[in-house]
Amino acid sequence: MIELKTEDELRVMREAGQIVGQTLAQIREMVRPGLNLLAIEQFVRDEFKRLGAKETFYQYTPDKRRQPPYPSNICISINDQLVHGIPTDRELQEGDVVSLDLGATYKGFVGDAAITVGVGIVSAEAARLMETTEEALWEGIHAARSGNRLNDIRGAIEDRIRKSGYSIVRGYGGHGVGRRMHEEPHVENVRGRFAGPQLRPGMVLALEPMVNVGGPDTEECADRWTVRTKDGSLCCHFEHTIAIREGREAEILTLP
Ligand code: MG
Repeated sequence: MIELKTEDELRVMREAGQIVGQTLAQIREMVRPGLNLLAIEQFVRDEFKRLGAKETFYQYTPDKRRQPPYPSNICISINDQLVHGIPTDRELQEGDVVSLDLGATYKGFVGDAAITVGVGIVSAEAARLMETTEEALWEGIHAARSGNRLNDIRGAIEDRIRKSGYSIVRGYGGHGVGRRMHEEPHVENVRGRFAGPQLRPGMVLALEPMVNVGGPDTEECADRWTVRTKDGSLCCHFEHTIAIREGREAEILTLP
């Protein structure tokens, strides 16, 4: 797990995070019925070029034998798609619930964040799902204090989701992030049997609750990337990259 050693490193991580946060904020403004997913992918490429950021997701693969390299710069997952949706020639429709997950590498450091937004007017259920998932992320961030344990974050996220009656996705979750996108530790969105590592100033984590309206099970699609709910129910995903700070709340690095 990365522990930032200097203010300089923190400053660069902040810059990497802001590139992600600001790009996502602009995409949020673009979202409307009729928007083609490939236009979003092109927007990300143009922004990265303009800002001097390097792609993080493009060509990423944790295991070449199991999955082809990821073909895009952003993950766009719609309705029953939870994460890792590949942008295709598809248009957003009124009522869609769309998760936008973006990573950028800047001066050797990675920022990683995701938002879920409704397209036009969405159902009451979709609105409640998005509110629940975003609040679970905030509960996790509030628990991410120096001296606490990793399990405090996991438990805070779990408790908020349980209160809603929705299902918590297992097997996917947050992670350490720094010079690489995925570092130790993995952050499941439920409590573990052990308290886990103590949180120390300079640690950087990506927290990402994932919530299903129906059952908790998911499956991988034929493209080997897109993950969707097994029962076809609506799902949601929010993510921020945060840095643990001494004597105060964690700093959110991926705010716009
Ligand atoms: Mg992530």
